[in-house]
Amino acid sequence: MLSWPPLLAAKDAPMLVERPAAARPALLDTFGRRVDYLRVSVTDRCNYRCTYCLGEHPVFVPKREVLSLDELDRLCSAFVRCGVRRLRLTGGEPLTRRNIVALVRSLSRHLSSGATAGGLDEITMTTNGSLLARFAGELAEAGLRRINVSLDTLDAETFARVTRGGDLASVLGGIEVARVAGLTVKLNTVVQAGVNDRAIADLVGYAHRRGMDLSLIETMPVGAVAGDRAGGFVPLDHVRAALEQRFTLVDLPERSGGPARYVRVVETGGRIGFITPMSHGFCADCNRVRVTCTGKLVLCLGRSGAVDLRAALRSSEGDDALVTAIHDAVARKPQSHSFALDQLGRPAIARGMNATGG
Ligand code: SAM
Repeated sequence: MLSWPPLLAAKDAPMLVERPAAARPALLDTFGRRVDYLRVSVTDRCNYRCTYCLGEHPVFVPKREVLSLDELDRLCSAFVRCGVRRLRLTGGEPLTRRNIVALVRSLSRHLSSGATAGGLDEITMTTNGSLLARFAGELAEAGLRRINVSLDTLDAETFARVTRGGDLASVLGGIEVARVAGLTVKLNTVVQAGVNDRAIADLVGYAHRRGMDLSLIETMPVGAVAGDRAGGFVPLDHVRAALEQRFTLVDLPERSGGPARYVRVVETGGRIGFITPMSHGFCADCNRVRVTCTGKLVLCLGRSGAVDLRAALRSSEGDDALVTAIHDAVARKPQSHSFALDQLGRPAIARGMNATGG
């Protein structure tokens, strides 16, 4: 049986020298933005084929190119050493990655409560929820406190159509198991015209009855998927206006360290987040970068470029070289994203969200 992480004897403890957070130089780009949030796609594979995310028959990267869990751990740890305080594991579907719980457990040493007290405020995960019933308890025990579950509809048929075969009941069941395990669950909903844009109020009710936040997300034209990208797009201003027919929404000043703008729903007491990459830019406050499962550092979700960190990760120069490569790359973070469709309606960003780590 695969055992990961290996038991660390003193002689083969990790190469990283943990330094107190205050002693670490911050990761800054040339626009003065501080990067302290890393999202890692631990696999580009997924058991769902959401129509806006993946094609029906996606081509995944060969397994030999995917970073091992040990490499992912070293990479994340190098980012922590660079001042990253929040880490989100995503994919693809992170819960399909073998031994993912062991990775969470190992990385949790960087939490302030962990063995190295290495400066991480939290480790979170974005999941489609289909395997949560199996893993939620172990994830909570391994150090996860919060998860985001992607849920676009409460209608089983629509759910199966959007995910191309997904089973709504297993996701809803997984959410309940996660809550019982003590995880704080937030829902993410990608709003699509003619698919779920008229049923958002149902999701609000479902989430808020359970004390969960709901974040609504505009569809971004990334990745090679079939169908009409532009036709499916709904600006969230329209969704908000429709919700205001039914609910009283009060703008909240608070931010969750990300791009969502929150409102309180007076009737339910719960919160809705609006994430509007297309209709309202939020690049000026961007604090995040992403790493693909092959070790490519994506500095901006809405730009094609990426910096390969795998060579530095695998070089004999050790983790100091990796830390230097991260600092050099982040300095080149683009000022703003540039989502667009070309004249044939194809997305300018060919890299899918499963690879980038949504
Ligand atoms: N499998 C996990 C899940 O379903 O949450 C994690 C990976 S998924 C790529 C992460 C998030 O990206 C999901 O909330 C998904 O809905 C969102 N997403 C995927 N493609 C998108 C797109 N084209 N526009 C906006 N959000 C997208």
